[in-house]
Amino acid sequence: MAYNVEVIREACIAAGSCVVLASETFELDDENLVRIKKQNGNSDEDILMAAQSCPVNAIIVRDETGKQIWPEA
Ligand code: SF4
Repeated sequence: MAYNVEVIREACIAAGSCVVLASETFELDDENLVRIKKQNGNSDEDILMAAQSCPVNAIIVRDETGKQIWPEA
């Protein structure tokens, strides 16, 4: 299973927890907004934890079939 992530930059408030929990997948850019550093940079577990840590749900996680894992529908 390989999760695919999408970030909603307009929603990001630069809390940074996603970067702490999955530093190879997410990073903050010059504007201090999240961007994807590398898809699958971290384990699925860490990527999901990072997404769940986001206070504004700015990270969308899908599995390889395209099913949305987080935020829960
Ligand atoms: S946890 Fe959410 S708000 Fe914080 S940097 Fe990541 S995407 Fe942005």
